[in-house]
Amino acid sequence: MNTRTQQVVIGVLAERATGERRVALIPSDIKKLFARATFLIESGAGREADFDDNMYVDAGARMADSRAILENCDVVLKVRPPAVDEVPRAGRILISLGGRDSDLGDELRKRSVIHLALERIPRTTRAQAMDVLSSQASIAGYASVLEGARALRVLLPMLTTAAGTIKPVRMIALGAGVAGLQAIASARRLGAVVYGFDVRAEAGEQVESLGAKFISVNADVGVGESAGGYAREQSSDRQTLLRRALSSHLATMQLVIATAQIPGRPAPLLIDRETLAMMQPGSVVVDVAAETGGNCEVTRPDQTVTENGVRVMGPTNLPSLMATDASRMFSGNIRALLAYLLDESGRLNLDASDPISGALLAGQNVARESVATT
Ligand code: NAD
Repeated sequence: MNTRTQQVVIGVLAERATGERRVALIPSDIKKLFARATFLIESGAGREADFDDNMYVDAGARMADSRAILENCDVVLKVRPPAVDEVPRAGRILISLGGRDSDLGDELRKRSVIHLALERIPRTTRAQAMDVLSSQASIAGYASVLEGARALRVLLPMLTTAAGTIKPVRMIALGAGVAGLQAIASARRLGAVVYGFDVRAEAGEQVESLGAKFISVNADVGVGESAGGYAREQSSDRQTLLRRALSSHLATMQLVIATAQIPGRPAPLLIDRETLAMMQPGSVVVDVAAETGGNCEVTRPDQTVTENGVRVMGPTNLPSLMATDASRMFSGNIRALLAYLLDESGRLNLDASDPISGALLAGQNVARESVATT
């Protein structure tokens, strides 16, 4: 019996969104999973992340076009949510981002596609290796500091030269979750004097453990966490109090990395025009929350807006700037997920009573599914 023909067939589509350079699975991870699945890769899928077709072939995958992948694969992998013509056939499995898009969810349910949306991976220790949100947020935090440093017309570190002394930049990360903490660590390495702020109490210790100062605001801002370790959305009165309390701190910063988010809700508004008017001209705000509305009143997605001489950048796909490592980490998360779902004989098992599969299947009418090509 040829056991390989019984294995699940996994396809990787190339990303088509403008500016998206990442790929969902890289050749070295295919090598690690090769004994348990058959892989079809869309030609050119890894090119923008520096993984050429021949590297995939060397790893044991076959190249194919997107039509063949959508026709023949039991599982289709993508980074971004799929376009209408990137949806696999009924009964097949799609693994991609897009779990916070309810229209996409409705459409996929209508087409009877099982969508394992990566935003639904539980943020538990068991599922940590599969946590795409964390891996990509970490890259976004690093990239945001580099983007901000390039936009500033001053140096980040202190420099003492015969021509005089350059003062270090003061930088603050608003929101000290995964992206904010990585931004703090990166700005410290570049020599800035670094601060952090968050509404979650436990973030203070994490900011300080990286050698930065935690800003505590002198206002009743309703510090708090909801279930799952995320911040709770604040009332609009409390948001106003918080903005006013933060403004005097922001007026002293030259680089602001804004990363505050509430899952499934618009990003909290932390920097309004009144605050921008208090900031020093030449300062830079990198609004990492631009995709969910932004932390700054003037943020426009993927544009730089200048207000009172302050440049406000709204990049929406920072991980793609570091596409090779972003793909390595994304792919590592997908490999961990596939290794969890695939059994030794190459059968992919989904069981709604399992904590990880169950979270991924939430809202879909699937109790138990076992997929293999027979
Ligand atoms: P996120 O991207 O949803 O939000 C970013 C940060 O913004 C959070 O720290 C949040 O508290 C903060 N924030 C929200 N509203 C704010 C406001 N008004 N003002 C200032 N800050 C505000 O969150 P995330 O980075 O994805 O994760 C949040 C936390 O969850 C992390 O700190 C992390 O410790 C935890 N987490 C745990 C695991 C795990 O246990 N496996 C994995 C990932 C994250």
